[in-house]
Amino acid sequence: MDCIFCKIASGEIKSSFVGENDWFVAFDDINPVAPTHVLVVPRKHVKSLEELAKYDTECMRSFFELVEQIVELKGIKTSGYRLIVNQGSDSGQEVEHLHFHILGGRKLGRLG
Ligand code: C5P
Repeated sequence: MDCIFCKIASGEIKSSFVGENDWFVAFDDINPVAPTHVLVVPRKHVKSLEELAKYDTECMRSFFELVEQIVELKGIKTSGYRLIVNQGSDSGQEVEHLHFHILGGRKLGRLG
């Protein structure tokens, strides 16, 4: 499958992970829109939140634990951050492999 995030997650394309667990990898966005801009990406080619919801609770727990580790590592736990998913054309989603953006390190504008 020709999916950039599958290639990054599998190591086929070299990337420096800022965190990982059995389910997810996390790396700095190549085109950051904030001082901290990390993507958290399922290792498997999951296409939507709906599909991710079919995985077991351990997967979801591991996701939130990883987010916690990353915001601590990046020093934005106290100052605050935003966790975003773009899904579908109206959201501006570019990569069709589900991914969560963690944004922080500055005052963020309003959503929308
Ligand atoms: O949510 P959306 O699909 O718009 O976001 C895709 C994100 O993936 C963008 O922020 C883009 O900079 C990032 N990206 C990346 N490395 C790539 C390709 C895209 O960090 N090789």
